[in-house]
Amino acid sequence: MDSKKESRKRIAVIPGDGIGQEVIPQAVKVIQASGAAVELTDFDWGADRYLRDQTTVPADGFAMLGRDFDAILVGAFGDPRVKTNIHAKEILLGMRFKMDLYANVRPVRLLDAALCPLKGIEPRDMDFVVLRENTEGVYTDAGGVFKQGTPDEIAIQEDINTRKGVERIIRYAFQYCERETKVDGSPRKKVLMCDKSNAMTHAGGLWQRVFKEVSGEHPRITAQHMYVDALCMQMVRDPRQFDVIVTNNMFGDIITDLAAGLQGGLGMAASGNIHPGRTSMFEPVHGSAPPIAGKNMANPFGAILTAAMMLAHLGMEAEAVKIEAAVLEAVRQKKTTQDIGGALGTREAGEWVAERVSK
Ligand code: ATP
Repeated sequence: MDSKKESRKRIAVIPGDGIGQEVIPQAVKVIQASGAAVELTDFDWGADRYLRDQTTVPADGFAMLGRDFDAILVGAFGDPRVKTNIHAKEILLGMRFKMDLYANVRPVRLLDAALCPLKGIEPRDMDFVVLRENTEGVYTDAGGVFKQGTPDEIAIQEDINTRKGVERIIRYAFQYCERETKVDGSPRKKVLMCDKSNAMTHAGGLWQRVFKEVSGEHPRITAQHMYVDALCMQMVRDPRQFDVIVTNNMFGDIITDLAAGLQGGLGMAASGNIHPGRTSMFEPVHGSAPPIAGKNMANPFGAILTAAMMLAHLGMEAEAVKIEAAVLEAVRQKKTTQDIGGALGTREAGEWVAERVSK
């Protein structure tokens, strides 16, 4: 038996909708150019499939992904033809919830000073990570509407926070801080918990108690707290101060769009959805971006950096480093799409990086 084939990591590739179908092929091209020992299998889950045969996730789909694959590379979901967005909910939230991918890891790194809208911020000034709780909060769709369509209508959206869910993401944050270094090799030192416990006292109280307890077990790590509104202001005023940020599902969603803006826009941001020891899923932070879909305009670097993150997670550090270096060089040489100042299309930017990686 071919031992190289045996040791290949199996990756499920789900481009999804809109620009997902454009950026993921570029990420795949770059993975292949890196020489990573992987076996890639494509899946057509997304709006086209749903409109064709009403399937969002085929029977046994999540069990199959967990059983047969080491990781999943995803593009984006969302299509104006599917008004309910049911396929996006069932596929993307389904993966996060049913595969219990509780840690959404979103690194915030500045590759080049020219990409940051803030004055005087250099790449060395911005290297933090947001760890977003990924299985609870307001995204569980718990709640309901009463007396809909009348003047007395009531809408209730429940914010679910379990002891288990809060504790495991906070523990993940401290372990991440202990384990991971910054890009320059220096150790991480601080974990900041972000909430709105002054207004959301019940859920916030739980987060506060658990944070105090878990931080007490890690005396060498500086524990900090900030309300989410203050954090937004501080992120724009001085992003140098951040290291590891841990927060709930909704605040994590919002502050990472802000953070993406500081990195050069949504097209640059990468993320992983992780359950340690299980099949994890990797996707760029951006959505399907219908207004620019099909125009060869979307920035593929968020997806390419996501692929690098996935390879590093699977133990292929050397390939990941090579890919990150090639993206950095593309940014420096302006071999990029228009959103970050270049003149290339999605395919051409992807090809440039792939060629660089294969050298
Ligand atoms: P979702 O809620 O699914 O995350 P969203 O509503 O936040 O999606 P996106 O689909 O991420 O929105 O995109 C919003 C806008 O950001 C797009 O219309 C586009 O202008 C810009 N954008 C997003 N991703 C990219 C990209 N890869 N390259 C260039 N521009 C992008």
